Parts: sequence; structure tokens; C-alpha cells
Amino acid sequence: MKLILLGAPGAGKGTVAKLLTEIDGSVQISTGDILRAAVAAGTELGKKAEAAMKAGDLVSDDLIMGIMEERLKEDDCKSGYLLDGFPRTIPQAEALKGLLDKMGEQLDTVVNIDVPREVILDRLTTRRTCTDCGAIYNVKSNPPQVEGICDACGGNVVQRDDETEEAIGNRLDVYNEKTAPLADFYEKEGMLLTVSATSSDDVISAIKNKLGM
Ligand code: AMP
Repeated sequence: MKLILLGAPGAGKGTVAKLLTEIDGSVQISTGDILRAAVAAGTELGKKAEAAMKAGDLVSDDLIMGIMEERLKEDDCKSGYLLDGFPRTIPQAEALKGLLDKMGEQLDTVVNIDVPREVILDRLTTRRTCTDCGAIYNVKSNPPQVEGICDACGGNVVQRDDETEEAIGNRLDVYNEKTAPLADFYEKEGMLLTVSATSSDDVISAIKNKLGM
């Protein structure tokens, strides 16, 4: 399947994407994971993105489109892809549309995961992430078996730099201003599936239902 997952930080895009990869071998493409790996590796890309990320601001559309043009050409995308955290601005959505047209590809649907703000805030402050494989944990509802160690790959499980109270507040403001308008954009394209659910299983069921799976 070829999907965009829209939703505020903490809405569950990453968790849902990981579950969907197990259904049909589609790959999860998280621009946030790609950027965090670049920052950790100290590459040119990482150096350009680091300050904006730490503050909870968006990195430039040009940088993101450069990453995505390359990524979508890779072989593993032939089995489908789940775009998690991209597009995040109208210019990115327009550029993606042009890119997919050029590649002769069409998305199945755009899923907007709609979760109340108080749930988001609670989740983001208690979320922990594996720095190696990106697995997502929660100190209250889903801690790793050994504190600080990833169950899946043995990597370090930490609180992200942009999950301080200040950065979280900024990320939510940026989301409302720059990314929330994408719901209207895709509604007009006739592509939008809005799911109001806090359980990832419910989100998966709604997607399967929509795709006739
Ligand atoms: P995420 O893991 O999706 O919350 O992304 C973490 C951070 O990476 C964001 O707060 C942005 O600074 C940056 N980022 C990720 N994806 C994008 C994107 N599509 N456009 C701009 N910045 C992005």
C-alpha cells in the first residue's frame, strides 16, 4: 500500500506505520528518523537540520524534498510505502504530487489520525525512542523490558531532544500552523480518511476497511 500518515506529533503515526509494514511488506519512511540518523552520524545533512529540529521547528522544504526524491526511488519502495511525518507543509505536498506524477505512481489514501490535545501532550512527555531502530516506547504504558535498552535491537532507549516541554509546545504550534492545513489539501484531492482514535488497532482497522483488505 502507498499511504501518507498525517497527524500531530504523538498522534501515533510511527506506531501505526510500523504495524502496517507487517501487513504487506510496505516500508515505513519517516523523515524524522532519517534526519535523527543524519544528526547522530554528523553528516552534512545532519548539521543543516540539527538546530531546527532541537527547537521543534521544521527543516527547509528543499532539504526534505532532496531526501524524499532519493528515498522514493529506492528498490524497497516497490512493495509500497508509508510516509510518516512527510509531507508537513503545503509546498511539500505540492512537490510530492509532482514527484509522484513524474514517477507514474498514485497513493491509495491519506490517513489523518486525529487525537485530542491532552492525549498528545501526555504521550509526548512519556514517550521514549530507540536511537538505533526508532522503536517507540512509553514509560507508563509500554516500557522496554530492561530500562533504557530496546527490546527489538538492544539499542539505547532515550527521551528525544525535542521532547522537552518547550520544544513540544513549539512542535504543536508549528503543526497547527503549517501541517494541519494539509487535511484540507487532501480532502480537496478526494484522498482524505480521517480517523479519530487513540488506539492504533482502531486506526489499522479503519485503514484496512477503506482499502478493502
Ligand atoms: P518527527 O520525528 O516526525 O516528529 O520529526 C522530528 C523533527 O524533524 C521535526 O520536528 C522537524 O524538525 C524535522 N522534520 C521531520 N520531517 C520533516 C518534514 N517533512 N519537514 C520539515 N521538517 C521535518
